[in-house]
Amino acid sequence: MLITPQFPVYSKQLRHCHCCPRRCRVDRLAGEVGFCKIGGQALVSHVGLHHGEEPPISGDHGSGTIFFAGCNLRCVFCQNHQISQNFQHSSVTPMSTAALADAMLRLQADGAHNINFVSPSHVLWQMADAIVSAKSKGLVLPIVYNSNGYDSPAALGQIRGLIDIYLPDLKYMDTSMAHNYSKVDDYAEVVGGVLAEMLDQVGHLELDDNDVAQKGLLVRHLVMPDGMENSKQCLRLLAKLDRQTTISLMSQYSPQHHAAQHPNINRTLSLAEYEEITDFALSLGLDNVFVQALSSQEVYLPDFDKDQPFAR
Ligand code: SF4
Repeated sequence: MLITPQFPVYSKQLRHCHCCPRRCRVDRLAGEVGFCKIGGQALVSHVGLHHGEEPPISGDHGSGTIFFAGCNLRCVFCQNHQISQNFQHSSVTPMSTAALADAMLRLQADGAHNINFVSPSHVLWQMADAIVSAKSKGLVLPIVYNSNGYDSPAALGQIRGLIDIYLPDLKYMDTSMAHNYSKVDDYAEVVGGVLAEMLDQVGHLELDDNDVAQKGLLVRHLVMPDGMENSKQCLRLLAKLDRQTTISLMSQYSPQHHAAQHPNINRTLSLAEYEEITDFALSLGLDNVFVQALSSQEVYLPDFDKDQPFAR
């Protein structure tokens, strides 16, 4: 799709921020910050090829990830807490529209299968302007929007046509879990509309001849210990949305960050729990499902204090 480069257009909306469902209405261009703690310029903590995503996203060459700092949730178990919540103590780089566009073009030159924006919900407008800029300079890779699912359907509607692959989490349908573990009260209310908007924009996941994703929706659900009913409610929502939806059922939960203060989630997931949820997905007719080995619980833990956060 040819997009006319006329930017920064989207970022003007940072003057009265309603970029995500928090609707803080602060003037981020004047240096004010809301819940996400990020002002007018996006902060980036890591840019590089990543091989730890689902196979159709990472492919053989890697996904071209751009990790944003800050977040509009406060997950007590966040494995990226160094950059999502404590980025003031991490090495992060403020990036302009031009710098973000250059980073995308470098990832394309390095052989990435796609450009994968990780945690973009609170910097959606900065990201959108940068995509328009990069496309005007020759970016042709699919764009992946890899979010926590706490997005604004209206804001997503405004970037229709810029995103090829939506890769959202579906974390909660249980409102008390959302409140206790991520400091959000309307996640379950919002996320159904978010997923419907995403599916409407890009349809179901489409792979090329090498099984690399080119377009579509892939929903992630992290199965949490003691969260069986929450996981089942999430799967029921997906079955209602569309049984053909591609799902990644993740077993990699690990009690990181402040999880020790919450006894119910201060452990890894058991095999019995994970199997209960994978079986339940199949019983609902959801059979486009990626599953994970339980041994993944430590494999995926990054350290953003290192130059290569995912190196082991
Ligand atoms: S993006 Fe940040 S400032 Fe804007 S509404 Fe969301 S949390 Fe508030």
